[in-house]
Amino acid sequence: MTAKEVAAVLREISQLLQLKGENAFKIRAYDMAADAFEGLPGDPAAPGGLHERVQNGTLSEISGVGKAIDQKVTELVKTGSLKYLEELRREFPHGALDLVRVPGLGPRKAVVLIRELDVTSLDDLEKAAREGRVRGLKGFGEKTEQMILEGIVKVRERQASRRPLWETRPLAESLLERVRGAPGVVRAEIAGSVRRYAETNGDIDIVAAAQGPVEPVMEVFATSPGVSEILARGGTKCSVRMREPPMQADLRVVTESQFATALHHFTGSKQHHVKLRGIARSKGLSISEYGLARIEGGGALQPASEEELYGLLDLEPVPPELREDLGEIELAQQRALPELVELGDVRGFVHCHSTWSDGKASIAQMVGAAQDLGAAYITITDHTKAAHYANGLDEDRLLRQWDEIAKVQEQFPRLRILRGSEVDILEDGSLDWHERVLEKLEVVICSVHQRFKLDLDRQTERIRRALENPLCRIWGHPSGRYLGDRDPMPARWEELIALAAERGVTIECNGTPHRLDLNCELLRVARKHGAKICLSVDAHSTRELRNLHYAVGTARRGWTERSRVVNARDASSFLSMLQHA
Ligand SMILES: [Zn+2]
Ligand SMILES: [Zn+2]
Repeated sequence: MTAKEVAAVLREISQLLQLKGENAFKIRAYDMAADAFEGLPGDPAAPGGLHERVQNGTLSEISGVGKAIDQKVTELVKTGSLKYLEELRREFPHGALDLVRVPGLGPRKAVVLIRELDVTSLDDLEKAAREGRVRGLKGFGEKTEQMILEGIVKVRERQASRRPLWETRPLAESLLERVRGAPGVVRAEIAGSVRRYAETNGDIDIVAAAQGPVEPVMEVFATSPGVSEILARGGTKCSVRMREPPMQADLRVVTESQFATALHHFTGSKQHHVKLRGIARSKGLSISEYGLARIEGGGALQPASEEELYGLLDLEPVPPELREDLGEIELAQQRALPELVELGDVRGFVHCHSTWSDGKASIAQMVGAAQDLGAAYITITDHTKAAHYANGLDEDRLLRQWDEIAKVQEQFPRLRILRGSEVDILEDGSLDWHERVLEKLEVVICSVHQRFKLDLDRQTERIRRALENPLCRIWGHPSGRYLGDRDPMPARWEELIALAAERGVTIECNGTPHRLDLNCELLRVARKHGAKICLSVDAHSTRELRNLHYAVGTARRGWTERSRVVNARDASSFLSMLQHA
């Protein structure tokens, strides 16, 4: 058992106590203890970690952990279960805690729902909300009812144990590499929502075409490192369970001539396919994982590529990231799909940190790595002094950094180094550099790093002021979210995005896999307003330069055309595009 798991148990106790209406001090004690356990080393066997403390009886030395909680955690770690929790659980319907997890609901409202409407599960709650029975309760209303319905969708997503792309993508790539090396495999690709660059994925799908027997390919897949269990192994499909992240991975093995339709089928999305099936039917065709066929006799049509498949339906080929039925099919009928940016279009690494602030590599190392990756330029944008926790630069250090940049530039004459800053947007919306400094910088990225919890109006006003500063050129990781850790800040996004577009401020799509910020929904809003987009790496190490594909994939999913991407062009055009609306 890890300290994080202990923390989760303590939180559950706190929630159950809240449902029960216990006194606030008792509840708070469990919450504080949960915080304390979250602060312990992640590895339970580490010095000062959970195991050592349980063994030595020193749990109560942790600030926030009293005697009663010490005993419970000791029981939990030693036996793997906790009687107190089990008794508490028995007092409420099985689904009660699911109700508490609905964003905006909380224990107090959940109790009302359980008592007044007799709801005992998410399904019950959804039914009640849809039938308009929730709005009549005291303290609820139509708005809350709507919020509950939206919240239920989020909870279900989490429960389906969808995993974030930063976990699934590397795993899918390593499985793909293994399958490609299997005997007889001539082609293989990642399919499913990972291929579509969805932020979270329910499973991993690989499609392979093999010459010869299927069995050896399955064998290679089933014996991949990290497989914890083989779930099914049939004629063309092998399903396994992975240990880390704990999720299912499926391999389909088909013949070469079936490959394009199989890849297309298993890429999804379901909604996209539903609409395609309708179009196929209107042309007297049927479409399935086995290919296209004429409904009235005639053989199967086996397109050699996805492009050909769309061609048979009189459609312009739809890139995987767009296949969500958000209007892409209608545009494909008119041959008017957006010309999406591609990884190969990006010429410069924008938003890079160095050891001058909180980066792990020197400027020379970052520049060398960028050159090896084929970049034409890099922007060094370290933090400013307000970001003291990140060793942000003051003016004196900034000037010294410029001396170093000049020296490194001599060492790397083929790649242009642009002098920049990631400037903090302060609480009042002003920027953390004097105007005279901002004017000398070639690249000014303005980001919020603190005070995420301002209310909607104040946060919106703060960012508005920053965007109205004529020296603000790029708006860094706008929503401030950190997936699995920090929700997006409250702000009126469309209003701000429209303002950025109007003022000619470029909006960042940050490729840090925990950020993906802007996300694809807001990128589509940015498209509506014609905003310029920067595909950033926000690299704090040379390795993180390789995160660029996350920015590109997210941008494509957000319908971002090449023409709006400032760093999909050479250094001088990049700089002039930043300057002009
Ligand atoms: Zn930042
Ligand atoms: Zn940064």
